[in-house]
Amino acid sequence: MSGRRGRLLQVHDRLLAAYGPQRWWPGETPFEVIVGAILTQSAAWTNAERALANLRRAGALSPAGLIAIGEGELAALIRPSGFFNAKARSLKALADLLRDRYGGDIGRLLRTPGAPLRTLLLATHGIGPETADAIVLYAAGRPSFVIDAYTRRTFSRLGLTPARDTYEDWRRLFMDNLPADAPLFNEYHALIVRHGKEACRKRPLCARCPLLDLCPTGSPSLPRRVGVRLRPANHPGGSG
Ligand code: SF4
Repeated sequence: MSGRRGRLLQVHDRLLAAYGPQRWWPGETPFEVIVGAILTQSAAWTNAERALANLRRAGALSPAGLIAIGEGELAALIRPSGFFNAKARSLKALADLLRDRYGGDIGRLLRTPGAPLRTLLLATHGIGPETADAIVLYAAGRPSFVIDAYTRRTFSRLGLTPARDTYEDWRRLFMDNLPADAPLFNEYHALIVRHGKEACRKRPLCARCPLLDLCPTGSPSLPRRVGVRLRPANHPGGSG
């Protein structure tokens, strides 16, 4: 086992032991996961959920509904998620992809192998690599590691970094050193987000960190202020 592979698996196992399974996006349809991945861009998950609820009430939370709705009406419904005009444009671009390439059949889109699906999504207006990987992993169930600000922050502090600070280099760090296992990637990303919210914050709470003995930059004297109340963080979205 390579040094990096061993360290990455060790961090995963520590986080899983500390926080338990995160059960992300467990009860929703793959289509809702796709729409949610776009709505939660630069937004807290609670605001994305409000936008999803509006779409559901309006009958627009389905491939046929999204294809049929006008961009202006869509933007008004998703207003709670912020950047609603840009997100409406992205969602309509996704609806066009679904209609033109897959005949509106979400099952056909999800059966596309991971690499070509990722390429198609990246070519869709408003879908960047983090959103594309979230869709490939959490909606299609294919192993594509999701990188976000929490990942960069925690693993930079742990001294586990790629040669260059680009999204694709960070993704390759995980893809090249972990088994291509969708459930592992699913759990690992969710655990990283949980850890970034609970311990490895901008101002890290190292004293309660399950990775402290593995971390060259951590210090048990951080934070110096005590009594910080922790919030549960078992939902997607919102790097901080
Ligand atoms: S020890 Fe501190 S800096 Fe290191 S991973 Fe934990 S919280 Fe982050």
